[in-house]
Order: sequence, then structure tokens, then C-alpha cells
Amino acid sequence: MEIKEIKALKILNANSNFTVEVVLNTEKGRFRGSSPAGESNSKYEVNQFSRSIDDEIASFNAHLKKLVGTKINGLEDIFALEKSLPEEFIGGPSLSLSYALLYGVSADLNKEPYELFGKKNNVMPVCKMIGGGLHASGLGMDIQEILVTTITNNNLESINGTLRVYKRVKELLEDKTDSFIGGVDPEGGFISGLDNYESIKLVREAAEDVIKENSMDIRLGLDFAASTFYKDGKYRYKRPIYGKKELDRGEQIDLTKKIADEFDIFYIEDPVDETLAEDYGEVLKSLGGSLIVGDDLTATTPERLEKVHGSINATLIKPNQVGLMYKVKEYSELADRFKIDKVVSHRSEETSIPIIADLAVGLNAKYLKVGINRGERIEKINRLIELN
Ligand code: PEP
Ligand code: MG
Repeated sequence: MEIKEIKALKILNANSNFTVEVVLNTEKGRFRGSSPAGESNSKYEVNQFSRSIDDEIASFNAHLKKLVGTKINGLEDIFALEKSLPEEFIGGPSLSLSYALLYGVSADLNKEPYELFGKKNNVMPVCKMIGGGLHASGLGMDIQEILVTTITNNNLESINGTLRVYKRVKELLEDKTDSFIGGVDPEGGFISGLDNYESIKLVREAAEDVIKENSMDIRLGLDFAASTFYKDGKYRYKRPIYGKKELDRGEQIDLTKKIADEFDIFYIEDPVDETLAEDYGEVLKSLGGSLIVGDDLTATTPERLEKVHGSINATLIKPNQVGLMYKVKEYSELADRFKIDKVVSHRSEETSIPIIADLAVGLNAKYLKVGINRGERIEKINRLIELN
């Protein structure tokens, strides 16, 4: 495939902030790649832009011009091109370029994008039911996400089970709270106004109702995103949880265990501050039957995973945390080597391309973390259905 024309432009992401899109023309047509952003970022992830977005795009366009006429015939050529990019473009620009090239190359080879990475694989979506923390503008829960996944070997069945719980959560919120008027956060999680404990209890109740009717294997998850409320050595909750608002490191580990036991939590993401790998290890020791998931801890960065792999048994893969697809592939292979389960994930400020569904399938991830409401999330869910 030859790059005939290529340019970068400023577009809006689904949270009404600007990001970059790369538009590529080849003899097979026009292909677009764009990069998402996060509201709650890890200190270990790359910055999306190294200057103002207008300056970034102007400078990137000057670089892209030099790529016209370049031949890209497969994944290895995309990786080589990534390695030749100046450091200043690593982040949003590099990932948008790689995504456009992935689409272009797969069309050229008459392949689906996931086929550039591997075989078709069953992937279970992990979907947000209720949102809190930075995603809910400081309203509601401190815990960022209450999640649900349905364990099956069929993507569509899994989506079905989880969707039933989502709809039941909505009904229960309407029945049980006065303030709920259907609002959702950027990832499609409901903003409930209930505190952490009551919110988790409500999602557990919704899941039990669906399990009773359909006897599906429905599991609950939490993303604490605990770094967002860890300040000066204490986890600071806005409202008391099990009677306390300020918890020290040991108390937060105990709290995680208590919630996981009481509500049978299967998936626990970032239960402690991102810098405290040894505390993840403590959680893993006491709750090793659940998934202890690194996100802010690991930031899709191979060097981080090398360092902290012993303290988790699952990890998110968010390509824009590292900005380069060759690093994403390296990270994925490293996770396999350490026998760590992989969860390819959306960001809170997504764009509308469904590429992460292809990546989850092609990288042989067990899970895709993605919202089950809002158009940009549904694009990914529907792509997963297509790849069933
Ligand atoms: C997350 O923390 O897992 C998440 C998807 O949110 P963000 O994109 O804001 O980091
Ligand atoms: Mg997270």
C-alpha cells in the first residue's frame, strides 16, 4: 500500500474536547484514525500532546507530508514508521497515524484489522453500570466505576446478559432515588447520587434479579481509580464507607477485601494508589481468586509491567497510554508471558472508531472494557457483535 495523501486535523472527541484525526488516502480508499483521551490519567502514561493542539497539528502535518509515497505493506512497516517518528509526536498524533495505517493496510490485504494481530478470539465486554470519581464531576461515588461482565463463550450472549443488568440498574435507580433523571457519565455509566456502598448494593441487586430470571454467570467489578482520591497518605472519601471517611494504606486494603467479600466482586481495578505496587500485591494475596487489575499502575508500558507484574493478575491495555502500537503489542506479549489476563479498554474521552474491539479480538484479550451506552461506545460493542 502506498500513502497517496495524508493529513492531520482537529476533531472533537465524545466528551467535547479536541483531539487529532489522521486521514489517509490510498488506492483502496480513505481511512481515518483518531486518538482518545482520559479524564483520570495515570502519572505513568504519555501526554497526548506536547504543545497546543493547533501547533501540534501544524507541526505533525509538516512531518506527514514527508511520508507521501511511502509503502506500508504490513504491521512491521507500521512499527518501523512509528520507531522513526520524532519524540514530540508520541501520543495522540502517533496513535492516530498508526490507527489510520492499520485500517489502510488491512483493506489493502483484504483482511479485517484484527487479523493483522492474530486469530479471532471470544471477548467478554466489561461494562460500566454506575460512574463516580472524576467521571461524575465530583458528584456521587468516590469509586470511579461499578462494572458488570457476563461470562460466556459468545460475545453476543455476554453483551445480552450485561445489557439486562444495565437496564435493571436504571429501573432500580428510578424506583429508589428521587434525584435520578437518567444522566450518564462519558462512558455511559449512570450518575446515581447514591454513595459508594448503596450504589454497589443496587448493582448487586440488579445482577441478582437478572441471574434469577436467566441463570447467567454475571459478575461484578469495581474500578476504584484510587489515585484520584489518595492525598497526603490517606484515601479521602467524600462520604463515610463502613463508617469511615479517611483511610490509611492498610485500611484501604482491608476495605477492598471487605467490599469484595460482601458483594462477591470478581474484578478489582486500581484499588490503591498507582505508586504503591506492594499494596496491589497485598490485595492480590488476600483476593487472588478475583482479577486484580492494573490500569494507572501499569499504563500499558512494558517497563512498568516488568517492574510490577508480581502484584497483579490482570491488566488494562489502553493504547493511547503509550501511543505506539509496537509497544502495545510488546506489552500484550509480556502480559502473556507473565500469565496476566488482558482487558483492552476504552478511555473516558473516546472517538467513534471501533478499533479497540479489533485489538481485543486480535490480541487475544479475555475482556473488552467498554460502555454499553452512548454512540461512540456502541460502535465498539457492535463491532464485537460483528466479530462474534
Ligand atoms: C479508567 O480509568 O479505566 C478509564 C477508562 O477512565 P479514563 O479514560 O478516564 O482513564
Ligand atoms: Mg481505570
